[in-house]
Amino acid sequence: MTIALTVLPYAENALEPHISAETLQTHHGKHHKTYVDKLNAAIEGTELADKSLEEIIHHAEGSGNKGMFNNAAQSWNHGFYWNSLSPDATAPAGDLAAAIDRDFGSLDELKKKLKETAINHFASGWAWLVSRDGTLSVTDTHDAGTELVAGIKPLLVVDVWEHAYYIDRKNVRPDYVNATVDNLLNWDFAAENFAREGTWTYPG
Ligand code: FE
Repeated sequence: MTIALTVLPYAENALEPHISAETLQTHHGKHHKTYVDKLNAAIEGTELADKSLEEIIHHAEGSGNKGMFNNAAQSWNHGFYWNSLSPDATAPAGDLAAAIDRDFGSLDELKKKLKETAINHFASGWAWLVSRDGTLSVTDTHDAGTELVAGIKPLLVVDVWEHAYYIDRKNVRPDYVNATVDNLLNWDFAAENFAREGTWTYPG
């Protein structure tokens, strides 16, 4: 068994004009694919070859295998990121909407916090909306750091590595973050994650 490259849940040009098809071709088809390819090469013929990606991440982290952790966590984070975006962005509803109002005051305040966190994150990393025991918060992780950890349930993520926006926005990360948070977040995916037992499972 090998770890699959996540199939994009929309066409490569579906996120335009906010994120271009060229960015998705490079980001998904080259950057994400490279993480997956390197991970598959590393686990081939080992006891990890038939494990899930989540199990591999925990194993690599626990054994201090930084190289494997980086490729495994980046594979998972990107799969989660593609699903965090949608060309048909809706608004939060139901239990998620109520939790947002309770923990942030309003959806606008949540978006403001997520934008600030993503824009101000130093160097490469990820900005997350997470639930810890049902309470929502915005967090960030560095490099390949993931919120796939005990006690935390990721709901949405924004990739703030330069490769997520450099083709479209050059060095202007705020333009990418603002366009993404305002137009592309998949609140249905966030609501599914909020409601599900455990965390989203990487396909393949
Ligand atoms: Fe990325």
